[in-house]
Amino acid sequence: MRKHYIVEGNNNGYPKLALCDRCVQDYVVISEGERTYDECAKCGEDD
Ligand SMILES: [Zn+2]
Repeated sequence: MRKHYIVEGNNNGYPKLALCDRCVQDYVVISEGERTYDECAKCGEDD
């Protein structure tokens, strides 16, 4: 299960991404949103 997170981006502000528990550790999380079935924006996990 992924969640939506607002994260600190590089040049484009604060993107909202669906991330799994593992990949979210690679980001600076600004705020944590709701659970989602969207695939992980980084690794593509979609189970
Ligand atoms: Zn992932």
